[in-house]
Amino acid sequence: MSKYLPTIGMEIHVELKTKSKMFCSCKNDMELDKEANVNICEVCTAQPGTLPVPNSEAIRFVQLAGLSLGCDLSKDSKFDRKNYFYPDIPKGYQISQYDQPFCGKGEMKIGDKTFGITRIHLEEDTGKLNHPKGTNYSLVDFNRAGVPLMELVTEPDFVSGEEARLFCQKLQQICRYLGISDADMEKGHMRCEANVSVYKEGEDKLSGTKVEVKNINSFKFVEKAIKFEIDRQIEAIESGEKIIQETRGWDSNRNATISQRSKETAADYRYFPEPDIPPMLFTDEYIEELRRELPELPEQKLQRFIGEYNVNERDGELLTSERDLANYFEQSISELQEKIQAGEIKAPQEKVFRLAVNYLNTEIRKHLVERQEKIADIKIVPENYAELIGIVADGKINSSAAQIVLEEMYEKGGDPSQIIEDKNLSQMDNNDEMEKVIDIILANNEASVSDYKNGKENALKFLMGQVMKETQGKANPQSAMEMIKKKILQ
Ligand SMILES: [Zn+2]
Repeated sequence: MSKYLPTIGMEIHVELKTKSKMFCSCKNDMELDKEANVNICEVCTAQPGTLPVPNSEAIRFVQLAGLSLGCDLSKDSKFDRKNYFYPDIPKGYQISQYDQPFCGKGEMKIGDKTFGITRIHLEEDTGKLNHPKGTNYSLVDFNRAGVPLMELVTEPDFVSGEEARLFCQKLQQICRYLGISDADMEKGHMRCEANVSVYKEGEDKLSGTKVEVKNINSFKFVEKAIKFEIDRQIEAIESGEKIIQETRGWDSNRNATISQRSKETAADYRYFPEPDIPPMLFTDEYIEELRRELPELPEQKLQRFIGEYNVNERDGELLTSERDLANYFEQSISELQEKIQAGEIKAPQEKVFRLAVNYLNTEIRKHLVERQEKIADIKIVPENYAELIGIVADGKINSSAAQIVLEEMYEKGGDPSQIIEDKNLSQMDNNDEMEKVIDIILANNEASVSDYKNGKENALKFLMGQVMKETQGKANPQSAMEMIKKKILQ
């Protein structure tokens, strides 16, 4: 058993989806970035004499994020210069926030645990360095320079890579609900850094030496990199080494963290107030107005779905995982309610809603995952989806026919009744066609008929199998069984 326990804090950068960059009017559009240095101007390349103008949309986005995480919003805030030289920073400093960030303390609940948020501030992104293969030089691309970047810093409340991953995933979900960022890690919209230390059981949890782990570009690697770093530190200490305060990069090919440089401290950055941007004041009215602007967040939506539609927690979590999916579900439900009230659907509402949840969370999800598509791209409109659910709920087609119809709808869209008619998928239920099939099967299987008369239940199963085969599964099993029994025993 290990005598050492981990302490982890997170720093997460999120590129905001504003129309323009942070301090100039260049478009904030990564699509434009296919060619180097095409989306730049004199401000974001720091030409002499230019002045930054803060982007109010970016400030509002950070404040919305803060409100949704229960942060105290500063009424008095400012930007600061963070001085450091790096070739992808045109000014030789980054405009960031030091002691008066837009958002102060907040929290995020995951399950039964609450993780503290220290602060959320706003800064500008850097450019990018490219190192062409086979050369001994680097090229700099300033397209990304000046893109608004939100930085969220947490308290050291995490004790495992898994907790950190869940936190990052939930933050992504909130950013998407708020519409402030796609927060796609693979695309670099969201970048996570972990501060990892270990301490001896019984001692202060902050007594270990902090190592910063960077270059983590997927949720899976958040978990893996932290786990690796915890194990590395424990192993080092146990073999008598001293942990040094440093920055390490996650190398996903080697599945290891690699030492990059010793860590700077705040003093190294010589922060001072940005003289070109006046301090900002926010009124209570402004903050209240922002609060009213907040959309329903995933957690609230989940609780409402559980209450209103009687979904279980697991299903509710899947349905609210994306805002578009939750909207699709609710549109379908309102179509279904109308159809039930109009008497077009006979099945009880509870059964209908359950089917609507199940088909969305299993069948439709399966198609979406297979084709790597999003619910927003789907050809099945909620009205047609609701119609299909009604047809299935009322037993007008069986579940294998429903799969065929759904697949056709997924491919081409369209009306399920039309597809059922075109493909002749309606269930045979106590009609002449069913009777004709059963009569032929009974006539051709006299031995089984007399076996059943003599009490052999298996014979009935055999006859049912023949009926299902002959009707290609379209016979309603219950009524087919009753019809066979009646015909044999009468
Ligand atoms: Zn610019």
